[in-house]
Amino acid sequence: MRRIASHLALLPSGIVSNPLVTLRDGEVVDIGQWERLDAMEGVEFYAGMLVPSLVNAHCHIELSYLEGQVARRGGFAAFASGVARTRNLFTPEQREEAVARADKAMWMEGVGAVGDIANDESAFGVKAQSPICYRTFAEVFGLRTASIEALEPMLGHPETSLTPHSTYSLQDEIFKRVCRSGDAPLSIHFMESEGERDLYNGSGALHEWYQTQGWECDFLHYGSPAERIVASVPADRSVILVHNCCVTQHDIDTIMGHFTAPVYWVVCLGSNDYISGVMPDIDLLRRNGLNICIGTDSLASNESLSMIAELKWLKGYPLHEVLTWATANGADALGYGDLLGRLEVGRRCGLAVIDALDYENMALTELSTCRRVL
Ligand SMILES: [Zn+2]
Repeated sequence: MRRIASHLALLPSGIVSNPLVTLRDGEVVDIGQWERLDAMEGVEFYAGMLVPSLVNAHCHIELSYLEGQVARRGGFAAFASGVARTRNLFTPEQREEAVARADKAMWMEGVGAVGDIANDESAFGVKAQSPICYRTFAEVFGLRTASIEALEPMLGHPETSLTPHSTYSLQDEIFKRVCRSGDAPLSIHFMESEGERDLYNGSGALHEWYQTQGWECDFLHYGSPAERIVASVPADRSVILVHNCCVTQHDIDTIMGHFTAPVYWVVCLGSNDYISGVMPDIDLLRRNGLNICIGTDSLASNESLSMIAELKWLKGYPLHEVLTWATANGADALGYGDLLGRLEVGRRCGLAVIDALDYENMALTELSTCRRVL
């Protein structure tokens, strides 16, 4: 039995003061309030706010070896060429070490689940050994990709399913096929740049790049990325839309008018800042009452995989709300909603503590960190 006290705790009902959480074998058996700590023996006290394990809703942990290899603010072209240029400079052992380091850092910081994109087998060894729950999306990618054969070995790993990379990188038939087979959630990169929409109008950076490469697209008749998703994904299949930097009200109406299953809108602010500086309109997402989640993206496009660093981009928003995005919403998106994401009796949700808070304004400070308690 462990009894853990703190200044604050994030519960599903909101932030409460003076929490006292009792756990047996990792399961929360009671959540009460302390009055005088000096009167309680055997209680561990952590300064700050107790939160359930954080959920990183979008990551590419296999790219961890690319930390610091891609120039900041180089845009998408620099990102793609940076990845291609440095890819062969690392041995499989170096890559695996980088994955193991990233996994450990996330665990120590209090991350309990990750929505992870995989393009190859290189991270599955570490993930299988990790205490973190990984839901892996084996990503179908490439305008000349017509078959999922190369990805099939990955589907033998636990909690791994296919997903299309984006609405601009796959031809019509295979995109539809991946969207319509199986019932696991899909995780689709969506509206990271305006070029994704422009492509459908025969203009913009993606269009020009495809032209110089001589690549043609057979899906532009859908009219927009949102229209393509609506036409291809069954309404009752849950989707996780990642980035959402250039999403408009019309896109949101199109998507939400179609789906009966939950839609999750992941923001990856550190990655957006690193690559292009184009950030999502958080107010627009909030105004629409969308399920917002938080992701770090990869170390190829972010300085760390720290969820607390991501939350510091959201300092103007109510803390209980952004913490809900980083916990309950992420857990729901990845299918762990019954297990993780909420500090409640009966759950094994893990426990972390966020410190160096601005208590007066109930906000994070630049010095705030998160570390695992349990
Ligand atoms: Zn990504």
